[in-house]
Amino acid sequence: MIRINQIHKSYVTGQNSLHVLKGINLKIEAGEMISIMGASGSGKSTLLNILGILDTYDSGEYLLDGLKINRLSERKAAQLRNKMLGFVFQSFNLVSFKNAMENVALPLYYQDVPRKKRNLVAMEYLDRMGLKEWAHHLPNELSGGQKQRVAIARALIGKPKVILADEPTGALDSTTSQEVMDILHEVNSTGITVIIVTHEHDIALRTNKTIRITDGNIKEIITNV
Ligand code: ADP
Ligand code: MG
Repeated sequence: MIRINQIHKSYVTGQNSLHVLKGINLKIEAGEMISIMGASGSGKSTLLNILGILDTYDSGEYLLDGLKINRLSERKAAQLRNKMLGFVFQSFNLVSFKNAMENVALPLYYQDVPRKKRNLVAMEYLDRMGLKEWAHHLPNELSGGQKQRVAIARALIGKPKVILADEPTGALDSTTSQEVMDILHEVNSTGITVIIVTHEHDIALRTNKTIRITDGNIKEIITNV
């Protein structure tokens, strides 16, 4: 599903250049559930953003589902993201003035699906997350765990092949974190590849494989049993 060969990425600000990724190689098969660990600032989000076609890389090669991802136009990148990828973030990134149903339906709005239809589909996804009764509530009326379930429903509504989650449990207590991991497991069991950035050990242990980034490189790949 994902092949990354010798990816380098530096951030240049003024006269300073920060070499964050120093020749990353990574192979992720369809249907895998993996975690990416590493110290704060080690480049986890940078790597995930490259995988999500939200950011570019300087050199190397990235193949997503056999497709070469390199210097795409923003239009083409958006098209691929819509078709292939779902995103989950630590801070949920819900639209505060839209209710749960409208937030979940948002990706379909951008695909020009009529309102009635997209709300109907959004309700199905909310139902899957056990949140049907919360459909008409605004994000600030939901708990952290409920917000993340709304965000996961929104990530799933476009039928992605890969879910990219950047510290999805970073803002949640440990019980709620495990519930979110239960959901991500369920998602993975439907065949969707799940990639989770985390700095929490117990979260990483709930994925099949953990990749550890140190000094801009993958230093070990651990198989979790
Ligand atoms: P992590 O997610 O592992 O904490 P990041 O990938 O966010 O790390 O960041 C890696 C390094 O790159 C950090 O030192 C961070 O400050 C720097 N960095 C991240 N994004 C940018 C940016 N847009 N411009 C400049 N430096 C950045
Ligand atoms: Mg990060």
